[in-house]
Amino acid sequence: MTQQAQRTVLVINSGSSSIKYQLVDPDSGRALASGLVERIGEETGAITHKHEGRTTEITQAVPDHGAGLAQVLRLFEEKGPSLAEAHIVAVGHRVVQGGRHFSGPALIDDDVVALIEELVPLGPLHNPAHLKGIEVGRSLLSDVPHVAVFDTAFFQDLPEEAARYALDREVADRYSIRRYGAHGTSHQFVSGEVSALLGRADLKQIVLHLGNGASASAVVAGHAVETSMGLTPLEGLVMGGRTGDIDPAAVFHLARVAGMSIDEIDHLFNRGSGMKGLSGDNDMREVWKRVAAGEQEARDAMDVYLHRLTKYVGAYTAVMGGLDALTFTAGIGENDARLRRELCQRLAFLGIELDEAANEERADGARVISTPGSAVTVLVVPTNEELAIARQAVTLL
Ligand code: ADP
Repeated sequence: MTQQAQRTVLVINSGSSSIKYQLVDPDSGRALASGLVERIGEETGAITHKHEGRTTEITQAVPDHGAGLAQVLRLFEEKGPSLAEAHIVAVGHRVVQGGRHFSGPALIDDDVVALIEELVPLGPLHNPAHLKGIEVGRSLLSDVPHVAVFDTAFFQDLPEEAARYALDREVADRYSIRRYGAHGTSHQFVSGEVSALLGRADLKQIVLHLGNGASASAVVAGHAVETSMGLTPLEGLVMGGRTGDIDPAAVFHLARVAGMSIDEIDHLFNRGSGMKGLSGDNDMREVWKRVAAGEQEARDAMDVYLHRLTKYVGAYTAVMGGLDALTFTAGIGENDARLRRELCQRLAFLGIELDEAANEERADGARVISTPGSAVTVLVVPTNEELAIARQAVTLL
């Protein structure tokens, strides 16, 4: 048997003050190294680099993204793995907002950069930071192709009736207001894993990506037909700090009655709401601790969270005309057995039967947590956006 030479993709997720990276073998799925540059532009920054079980931590000022990435490349040379020996075939950049321009990964050239820039008004919190990552990446790693992988791409083929808001058509079209969705790379990866695990391509699925940001998607035979995030990642489920669904008239009310500015309302809805706003904590582990201590506010927050999820699962089941598989992923979805149990109790009318022992078991891989007799297969599937980005990137080579 001839052994295929190893090839790797450096996956970069550039945020406004951070760069997350992972060196991934797209063929085996193995992560060879990973790390995080934090607090870029602040007085003291920090870099964490992990390789073969060893963690290197550096605390130093990181003035800008260029300095951050340069330091990361030095760490690869000093601590391994050597990038020259790792056979990097591409750099994959995560980009949140691809608007209507991108329905798949794109080889980055100056035109693609210009399009990502054009989409800044639709992704003001993310696209400017991605552009910085792309710029420094292309200048420091100029001899390999760079690929942009968009969070919105999986939702580009949403049916028009799901993507279009009932807003004046001309205004909506002039200002590009429609449902773009987000977390698409995760929803596509996880729903694909479910199909592979269950050996069926024709499934009606709901994926619940429950992390600090949270979103639901409905997927029929591999195609997304609905998703809960909208024009921006603010719409939909209750999140760590975001409201999710709220009557847009709350904006008018706060502006007129409370005298708040648009920026203040933006901050309130995107950062000061959700579990944080309801309970004071955005981390589910803390909220559960307070539920255990008998705090009514924490219990109420959980009930708002669970109620919203129940509504979405019901609505998406109706949209698809049925449900074969319900999958939990991301930080909360993968780890919070109690939340999964309480949601499945609320969904018992769908014929869902949770296997309590399987639900409680702490395991790393994809697994079924419903009983063999359950009318809907319930699963936990760890998301792996880095691997998904790496795999998408090599499809363009
Ligand atoms: P993001 O990528 O959106 O920042 P993650 O998918 O990493 O978020 O999820 C982070 C969240 O996962 C935390 O805020 C916390 O609420 C939740 N979380 C992590 N571990 C657990 C756990 N064991 N039990 C409950 N929630 C958890």
